[in-house]
Amino acid sequence: MNFEDIQAIKKLISEPQKIVVVPHKNPDGDAIGSTLALWHYLKFRGQEATVIVPNDYPKFLKWMAGNDQILNFEKENAQAKSKIEAATLIFTLDFNHLGRIGQMEEPLSKLTVPFVMIDHHQEPSDYAEIMYSDVMMSSTCEMVYNFIEYLGDADAITPEMASCMYTGIMTDTGSFKFSSTTSKTHRVAAHLIEKGAESTKIHHRVFDTNTPGRLHLLGTALNNMVILEDYKTAYITLSQEELDAHKYQKGDTEGFVNYGLTLEGIIFAAIFIENKEEGIIKISFRSVGDFSVNEFARKHFQGGGHNNAAGGKYEISLKETATYFESLLDEYKTELAGF
Ligand code: 5GP
Ligand code: MN
Repeated sequence: MNFEDIQAIKKLISEPQKIVVVPHKNPDGDAIGSTLALWHYLKFRGQEATVIVPNDYPKFLKWMAGNDQILNFEKENAQAKSKIEAATLIFTLDFNHLGRIGQMEEPLSKLTVPFVMIDHHQEPSDYAEIMYSDVMMSSTCEMVYNFIEYLGDADAITPEMASCMYTGIMTDTGSFKFSSTTSKTHRVAAHLIEKGAESTKIHHRVFDTNTPGRLHLLGTALNNMVILEDYKTAYITLSQEELDAHKYQKGDTEGFVNYGLTLEGIIFAAIFIENKEEGIIKISFRSVGDFSVNEFARKHFQGGGHNNAAGGKYEISLKETATYFESLLDEYKTELAGF
């Protein structure tokens, strides 16, 4: 964050504001962790603040302090709308394009109050007056830590804030293994542990939450995996029928895409998940090394993200999406030969 932006934020929050904090649709650990950490901090600063999520999120993220104060734009629409209309300041976290918040785009884009963006995705759009955008950052949670530090309050971090931030750093770095994890990321995590984040418990609450249905669904996903050795690629498909048969719940497929990358020699992994209700195939891409799944998702699947983790969607059938995906790979044969 540059000096002017820090001064501007200091000025804004030195006066009482009505603040709304927003993560992206289908919020993940970094989205919920960063918005709740910032919410705790803004409350500590004496501000009136509300986190509003565009839609629901997995149960394994619902243990964080402040979770019961979150408004769901789909389920608590009237209340959420009136908070948005009354807002004097908006923070948007872990996304950089208003198209990423679904139905919430409409009321938010009508506002004339200042927007602050804190985000680590590529190619930010320009809706925010104050932009803290850094694609080198491991997570938005690491950026919220920096934000609090810039405002001179790193010592005031509470165990609640620390746990929320630790959660997002842990989930967005694949437990500190992705290449976005820097020595600074570890220093921030260390400080969060000193401030009361219980790392072992957090890991347990987020990752040790399998149901029999989810494990069996993982079995189906792994059985469905197609391995294309020539392209160092592996992909998984899951149909709506397969999800239903295993009593699919939001978040159940989280992390499945990573199994492709655990195969020796595989550097590009994808998962295609049918969503009959939305009429789309939701896609996740992962890579190791230089192959940019962000560019791939942007170019072919209306998506984006980071170099090694991105997502997108497609509107034809599951089978056709997989066939289309396979047909694209030859164009990338040289790039996929690397690493
Ligand atoms: P995931 O595969 O875990 O859903 O998402 C991986 C990364 O890609 C996340 O950083 C996420 O924000 C981003 N991402 C996922 N889906 C989309 C999408 O449809 N559009 C864009 N622009 N980014 C996405
Ligand atoms: Mn993130």
